[in-house]
Amino acid sequence: MSTQSTASTCCYCGVGCGVLIEHDGKRVLDVAGDPAHPANLGRLCSKGATLHKTGDLAARALYPELRLGKGLSRSRTDWDSAMSHAAEVFGRTIAEHGPDSVAFYISGQLLTEDYYCFNKLARALVGTNNIDSNSRLCMSSAVVGYKRSLGADAPPCSYEDIEQSDCLLIAGSNMAFAHPVLFRRLEAAKAADPSKRVIVIDPRRTDTCEIADLHLAIEPGTDVALFHGILHLLLWEGWIDRDFIEAHTDRFDQLKTLVRDYSPAITAQLCGISEDDLHSAARMIGTAPSFLSLWCMGLNQSSAGSAKNNALINLHLATGQIGKVGSGPFSLTGQPNAMGGRETGSLSNLLPGHREAGNAEHRAEVAEYWGVDALPANVGLSAIELFEGVRSGRIKALWIACTNPAQSMPNQTLIHEALATCPFVIVQEAFFTTETCRYADLLLPAASWGEKEGTVTNSERRISHVRSAVAAPGDARPDWAIVCDFARRLEKQLRPGQPSLFDFTSPAQIFDEYKALTAGRDLDYSGLSHALIDTLGPQQWPFNAETGQGTARLYSDGIFATDNGHARFVAEPYRAAQETRDAQFPLILNTGRLRDHWHGMSRTGTAAQLFGHVEQALLSLHPDELRRRNLNEGDLVRVSSRRGELILPVESDAQISPGQAFLPMHWGDRFLKGLGSNVLTQPAFDPLSKQPELKQSSINIAHAELP
Ligand code: SF4
Repeated sequence: MSTQSTASTCCYCGVGCGVLIEHDGKRVLDVAGDPAHPANLGRLCSKGATLHKTGDLAARALYPELRLGKGLSRSRTDWDSAMSHAAEVFGRTIAEHGPDSVAFYISGQLLTEDYYCFNKLARALVGTNNIDSNSRLCMSSAVVGYKRSLGADAPPCSYEDIEQSDCLLIAGSNMAFAHPVLFRRLEAAKAADPSKRVIVIDPRRTDTCEIADLHLAIEPGTDVALFHGILHLLLWEGWIDRDFIEAHTDRFDQLKTLVRDYSPAITAQLCGISEDDLHSAARMIGTAPSFLSLWCMGLNQSSAGSAKNNALINLHLATGQIGKVGSGPFSLTGQPNAMGGRETGSLSNLLPGHREAGNAEHRAEVAEYWGVDALPANVGLSAIELFEGVRSGRIKALWIACTNPAQSMPNQTLIHEALATCPFVIVQEAFFTTETCRYADLLLPAASWGEKEGTVTNSERRISHVRSAVAAPGDARPDWAIVCDFARRLEKQLRPGQPSLFDFTSPAQIFDEYKALTAGRDLDYSGLSHALIDTLGPQQWPFNAETGQGTARLYSDGIFATDNGHARFVAEPYRAAQETRDAQFPLILNTGRLRDHWHGMSRTGTAAQLFGHVEQALLSLHPDELRRRNLNEGDLVRVSSRRGELILPVESDAQISPGQAFLPMHWGDRFLKGLGSNVLTQPAFDPLSKQPELKQSSINIAHAELP
């Protein structure tokens, strides 16, 4: 067969780059950046450009596998037996222990149509809100931040704003590694216009700092103090937009009173930076014609994640820098479809169409649309709570799809304990090599990138069509098809004799049902369809069906998504992180991404080329910390926290401040002695967003030898 090209989307980060898949109908042969896709305009990063070299068949889950008791091996089975068994166990568990005895833990890697089916299964059929996503670990603080300040979970900016802004503040994001194509766009824009100012806030001097005019290496976790300190100076210097504040916002006086306490001297001391640098940051922000902020996990993965998001958004509201070209608060989503998950209601507290599970009116609207009597009112469990529920025995049947919590959740030892003792665990996965698959009583092989159809939404609210180029290997099936097959069988027990809620035959049909739930909501894309995306190209929501156009920028009219149309300042004081340094654990550990790997490496770990940049997990420490401990590069150390320990080599890195350490998040226990890096991290979470504090744990190190 001759070579063909299929336009699709990269399956890694939230930039959502368009890729052209070169294939012969059976195998993916090559990939290229899609010059017609507005996110990347033909560019790809090292991960995207090697997509065709990953996903080795030897690592793929090809057939359903079932075991009929803990401690036994799984055996290959067929789909009919697998699905019947799963429906029988779930049905029996629900009958004996109620709907909240089962739970679903899904993923920002899923497509919008997959998400929708999982949500409908959990809430409409099973009758539980125990469905959460690994986006809880990624973006839930941004969700709370947007909703509290602006009234809706809607990043108001476009990627073009990165090029058009006069002053960019990048906070808690190593964009050069985590969102490389956007970073290249920023680099090119700054090279073309050197007057553009870039401020980077990060305890580490990362590659992103290469283009910074000002790097604020703050003490980990002090972002709220820094933003309040900047606002203090903006007020002092008169660099705020009083007309905008008066006309379009509420609650400024409260915040003004709060930030009086954040004088330059106090802020500089709290944040571990100079007063001069603080003044420089305020001047750059306060005097710039346009001001854009970009942020990611450094703000979100924190026990004060919501407060950090709101303190940053406060700066935009105080300066009136929102809803304008080159201006606004712009969170970068980590996963390719974390946005789609938020839209379809794939966090335990949400419902489709940016609705709330805790809102009776919203529940009634969705129940009526789905044709069921009611949706569950019980509060659903968020990720950390959900696995605590598994460990305590409250959850008796758990379905995990497209994610690897045994590697990615904090305090991993407890997650392994929970999975080992859960009476029934389904793992729906494309790769059988993940740590979580080890605990599967039923392993369901899922189709992967290049093999499945649907849509994703990227960080700028742009919906792209993900297309399949080749058939899935073995018996692997698309995620939505697995869910619907299971649901139709469970319906026979829970809704006997009633018409099926899951008679879908294609992702386009699922999209068409789902999109009506966005009608009249802030994200309205009810006029869109797979076919229209194919005609018009990827579109940003809200999408106007009459004009056939998406929306590049929100709030340009100064009307926000709150009840009275006013944005709200949020006044919350700085709170220290849950763990700081002490005599027993004198170092603060930060975990994060490398340039060439993705999450737990189930895909990128299959390409030798992607280990060329960094070969192995190393604990990075400032040279002074090595010297003080009489350590040399490559020496093995025992790294311990209050939760567990790892043995791994150290490297010297002057970009890490003394008293801190950095460890890549990608290696799990397939690679490291003990468990993965998250054996060290803590499960403390933000009280509002429930997002865990993966970015800050206290550790100690000591010389070690391999046992
Ligand atoms: Fe894929 Fe993100 Fe790289 Fe684009 S920037 S190619 S979406 S990993």
